[in-house]
Amino acid sequence: MNLLNRREMIHTSAACGVGAVLGEAGLAGQTPGTAAALAQQPRPAAPIQTRMFWTWDHSTEWALNRPGAHTHGSCNEYGRSTDSFLQDYTALLRWCGRNHIDAVVVWGLLRDGHGGLESAKRLCDVAARENVRLLCGVGLNAYGGVYYEGNSPYNLERHLEAHPELNAVDAEGQPLSFTIDLNGKKTPITTTGQPGPRGFYQACPSRRENQDFLAESLAWLFKNLPLGGVQIETGDTGICQCQRCRDRRQHSSPEFSWLSWEDMGLMYPLATRAIRDVAPDAWIVCETYSHPQPYVGPDKPPRFGDAMPAWAAAELARFPRGVFVQWVADYFMKNGEIAPTWTAEGRVATTEHRHVMRSHLATSWFGNRGELAVDWLANLVQRSIASGCEGISLFGEVSPFHAGAELNYLALADYGSPENPQADLASFQRRIAAPLLGGDTAAREFLQFARLLSDRVKISAALPEIYGRLASLPPQAARRWCWLAHQLASFVPLET
Ligand SMILES: [Zn+2]
Repeated sequence: MNLLNRREMIHTSAACGVGAVLGEAGLAGQTPGTAAALAQQPRPAAPIQTRMFWTWDHSTEWALNRPGAHTHGSCNEYGRSTDSFLQDYTALLRWCGRNHIDAVVVWGLLRDGHGGLESAKRLCDVAARENVRLLCGVGLNAYGGVYYEGNSPYNLERHLEAHPELNAVDAEGQPLSFTIDLNGKKTPITTTGQPGPRGFYQACPSRRENQDFLAESLAWLFKNLPLGGVQIETGDTGICQCQRCRDRRQHSSPEFSWLSWEDMGLMYPLATRAIRDVAPDAWIVCETYSHPQPYVGPDKPPRFGDAMPAWAAAELARFPRGVFVQWVADYFMKNGEIAPTWTAEGRVATTEHRHVMRSHLATSWFGNRGELAVDWLANLVQRSIASGCEGISLFGEVSPFHAGAELNYLALADYGSPENPQADLASFQRRIAAPLLGGDTAAREFLQFARLLSDRVKISAALPEIYGRLASLPPQAARRWCWLAHQLASFVPLET
């Protein structure tokens, strides 16, 4: 397996939200206009209504100078203390509340290793004070289920250990569970009952027992935590190839498939019903692992970030009314520009669902963690608005102490707002960035210098110019420029 495949695999992305809509029958008696549907109706006014941060617990580092944070990956072990977990997310939620970020997705929210339910409750309290929605990342057939890691009856791994016949299987009938290292080597998981990292477990979505377990788990989650909602996924690390699943799927390929639109169409309505029965106002963000651009070409198994096959429209129509549908733009951008493959046909319908576009900008998945991306983000938001999206999601794992992340987050808050409805980069730089960086010219130069990461032979010559201006800047502006200089310098080999 090459690195690209590994990246696609580990790419936990998602949100689900299939809806059983189809005549509101799937909504357990709810009809359009009910509280459940109205709860997720967009607010009036600016083009972008909803801004979200997406995070893994193990890679979120807002409480600085503490050990144990990862800088990449998904489904890693948690290496920080319970106090660090609380401080990381307290700082993050407070920043969001004060800077117009509406929701924060936390994957790994519930782990024994950082305080389990009690810690999550404390963060729900912080989120409520800050008027930010805390969204639990929940894998429906994968990613640990509701309780990501620990000795909980609502942990998917424990469930599958107790009922091994409910595991998802590969084409040979072997359990679809494995770990994968940074070299791309997959290893089947044979241990049980040991601390993480647990790798990837999958449950067969066709088994009624798993569906019931999912519904019971989600009901428990919302009865025990005052969450703002969930981001749900059906898994993009391989789908079950048992006979039941193959018989169910109209478009299932006999070869290995990373993800399944049909699994989304099956599971998102089930999950939504279970959640809304307990928490009718919860936000439910449903990941598609896909881009809305219609796919043209010979049929093939979908992969992370692919265009949407024509037949998937029927599955999308099953997503419940009023949920957020989340898309990914990574492979429809190139060098920060919108790729020509993202055309006017890549537009979403807004009658049934709210739509969120996201990209892994400024992460190790898709560039460099924490790098400045305000220009790329402007391109993304502009095209997303034109494509019918009203929400934007960005990774929020890096502390805004790092100036690149800080400016990206401020740009997320600004683009598509009443102050900047066109998501105009120059407007952002003039109104937001310039006061932070030493003036209009300085703001433009800051971005120009940051782009030297793609022209690295020029970095060495640029560094004296950057360091030379520090003494003439206000202290906080100097700190941001100093961050940029250090980031650029870190790409210059020590021996040169
Ligand atoms: Zn199956």
